[in-house]
Amino acid sequence: MPELPEVETMVRGIRSHVIDRVIENIVMCPNDFKPISVVPRLPQLRKKLIGHRFVEVRRLGKRIVFDLSDQSNLVIEPRMTGLMVLSDPPDVNHLRIQISFRSSGNFDSLWFWDRRGLGTVTWLEPGRLQEKLGSRSLGPDALDFDVERWIECCGMTSREIKVLLLDQKTVAGIGNIYASEILHRAGIHPSRPANSLNSNSIDKIAAAVRSVLLKAIECEGSTLGDGTYRNALNQNGSYQNEHRVYLREGQNCLSCHKGEIKRIVQAQRSTFFCSNCQKERK
Ligand SMILES: [Zn+2]
Repeated sequence: MPELPEVETMVRGIRSHVIDRVIENIVMCPNDFKPISVVPRLPQLRKKLIGHRFVEVRRLGKRIVFDLSDQSNLVIEPRMTGLMVLSDPPDVNHLRIQISFRSSGNFDSLWFWDRRGLGTVTWLEPGRLQEKLGSRSLGPDALDFDVERWIECCGMTSREIKVLLLDQKTVAGIGNIYASEILHRAGIHPSRPANSLNSNSIDKIAAAVRSVLLKAIECEGSTLGDGTYRNALNQNGSYQNEHRVYLREGQNCLSCHKGEIKRIVQAQRSTFFCSNCQKERK
C-alpha cells in the first residue's frame, strides 16, 4: 500500500497542477521524526531542482516519476504510507517535503506526506532512470500485460501464484491488497504453483488483473480503516467497498455466500481467500 491504483490516482490528481511549473524551492518540513531518505542530500538536491520545470509526471509501477526540463528525473516512492498532496494533508505533522513553484497556479506547492516515513525521494541524472528502474529491476506494468505474457511468466516458475503477483521484477504495480482480490475474482487458490495453472485459469487471472485494477483506479484506490491513503486533495478512495476478501478473515464470502474467508501467510504477507470459491485444486 499504496499500490498501482493509488499511485495512478496520485499522478492523475497532481499532473495538471505540476506540469510546466518552475520549481522555486524544495525543503524538508520541520518535525521531530527521523528524516525520510532523500538522495542526493537536500543542499545538492536543491541545486539540481530549483529553476527547472516539470515536463511530465507519470507512474512507474508503484513509483511516481517526474521528468524535468533538463532531462533529469525525480522519483518518489511512497512505500507504505506516502502520499502526494496539493493541499489539506491528513495532518501537518507528517508532511515531509515541500516543493514550491515559482509560476502561478491553483496550488503553490506539492507536498510529500508520509506517516511512517519509509518513502523515498531520489533525483537521477539524465539517462539514469533506465539503469535504475529499467527492465532488469522492474517488470512491465500490470496494465500492459496480455494473456500471452501471463502464460509465459506463469510457465517459468513453480512459485505460488500470489507470490508471483507480488514480484515487482515480474509484474510492476500489484501489491498485497490487489493480489488477494485478483485471485479471488479469478477463483484461483493463492498457493497454486504458477506453472500448474492451465490456460483457462491464466485467462481468468489476466482478466481479473485488468478488471480489478481498472475499477480500483476508477474508485481512486482503497482507503483502509487506518485512513492513511487519500487522493491529492485529501479525499478517500472508495475501492475498499468493493473488497471481497481482503481483511475479511472469518467472515462469510460475499461472492458465493457459502465459504468462509481464510487468511494464510505467504512470503511474510497475509493472503485472504475464500475456501469455497478458491479451492486448492480444480
Ligand atoms: Zn466464496
